[in-house]
Amino acid sequence: MAKYDLDLFVIGGGSGGVRAGRVAASMGKRVAIAEEYRFGGTCVIRGCVPKKLFVYASQFPEHFEDAAGYGWAVGESRFDWATLIANKDKEIARLEGLYRKGLENAGARLIDGRAVLVDSHTVRVGGETFTAEHILVATGGRPNPHVALPGREHCITSNEAFHLEELPASIAIEGGGYIAVEFANIFHGLGVKTTLIYRGREILSRFDGDLRKGLHEAMEAKGIRILCQDIIEQVEKQPDGRLAAHLMSGGVETFDKIMLAIGRVPNTEGLGLEAAGVETGVRGEILVDGYSRTNVENIWAIGDVTDRVQLTPVAIHEAMCFIETAFKDNPTTVDHRDIATAVFSQPEIGTVGLAEEEAGKHFEELEIYRASFRPMRHTLAGRQDKMIMKLVVDAASKRVVGAHILGPDAGEMAQLLGIAIKGRLTKDVFDRTMAVHPTAAEELVTMYQPSYRVRNGERV
Ligand code: NDP
Repeated sequence: MAKYDLDLFVIGGGSGGVRAGRVAASMGKRVAIAEEYRFGGTCVIRGCVPKKLFVYASQFPEHFEDAAGYGWAVGESRFDWATLIANKDKEIARLEGLYRKGLENAGARLIDGRAVLVDSHTVRVGGETFTAEHILVATGGRPNPHVALPGREHCITSNEAFHLEELPASIAIEGGGYIAVEFANIFHGLGVKTTLIYRGREILSRFDGDLRKGLHEAMEAKGIRILCQDIIEQVEKQPDGRLAAHLMSGGVETFDKIMLAIGRVPNTEGLGLEAAGVETGVRGEILVDGYSRTNVENIWAIGDVTDRVQLTPVAIHEAMCFIETAFKDNPTTVDHRDIATAVFSQPEIGTVGLAEEEAGKHFEELEIYRASFRPMRHTLAGRQDKMIMKLVVDAASKRVVGAHILGPDAGEMAQLLGIAIKGRLTKDVFDRTMAVHPTAAEELVTMYQPSYRVRNGERV
């Protein structure tokens, strides 16, 4: 008779939890997984996937404009928000179904409900109690509710942005990170008068400076208003339902909607972590070691709830390392270095490795290879957007330590560059690589001379 009801209880059916539950169950482990909202988690239900569908929707006006230069006459176009929402919801429901089916087929038990830890081996959900040898917490995160902002209850976050009944005529978005920048481009593309309000000097604070500046300029050129070094200090609802934003810079501006995108916080409240003795950090995140193990030996945590790197593929990778460690007798730590990532702005950002500014702190001398050009497809279209490609190379070892792209399909390119950077390839390997012609990506293997050098953090 087994000591516990289950080998694994997973709390949270998002990207990380589903992967761990499915793989463990397919290995013959007795697995249950509880989800309080919808299987698929933030990424599938109200994050990456519906966001990307919105990005596609928002790009059509530029495609229609560009068509003329190629000889196409496109008739009058009209956008219907309700159609987009309905089709998006249908697709998300389909994906959720696939997630559920994948778990069921693997033999996991799915539980729709909110699970709470009772002690280090016991979980309660609905009226039922389960004991499990291992417990994996993968409850993700939620938008930072910005408790310090008077009037925050009038604002929306990305959660609500996916379900607005109507497209607003105007919106202000607070924040300068992934979500703020992506949604500023989405709303603008769909015809909404959009203002981005960011507290720092330049949007996307942790990215390479060239990309930040290049994207800022491109967004402004399209008509997105960007206010840097400003903050919304108060929001008031007016009698007509519109929202007045009091800005730190002194002005009061009125918008139909205000969206807060100022980071995400871990979902650890009311989980019973104290009862199980699991330690959390200052932001409420579950503290884990390199194997995703908490201070309680049989309790593990992966994904956004640990607030390491808040990205879906990272949560999935952490799940796979957890499986190796807990069930395959192959202790595997998660390598969080050199994670390729994309910002689905317009133009898009694709990046992997160190930004020039960051690399300057780690290496005495850098060689920077940089190209800025108008991609071929913009030529007949008459579009002026420039593409930027940049390689950051450690001059001593010639290793390419960062690769950064601004322009069409930058995310797709970053995925492939991620292999080269992860493989610690040197610049001469890039130089020996034949170009694929004619592409934009060929620039990455044809920048033979450094554009400039950086010594001790200073450009020379
Ligand atoms: P980010 O951490 O990317 O950005 C948060 C932004 O909010 C920063 O610009 C930050 O400023 C600003 N900020 C933080 N606190 C305040 C405050 N009190 N007042 C005003 N501004 C504030 O978070 P997001 O919410 O954009 O996204 C959450 C995470 O989700 C991302 O970090 C990313 O990991 C993930 N994500 C990934 C996507 C992708 O892969 N394409 C898409 C969307 C989300 P400062 O820079 O000065 O700190």
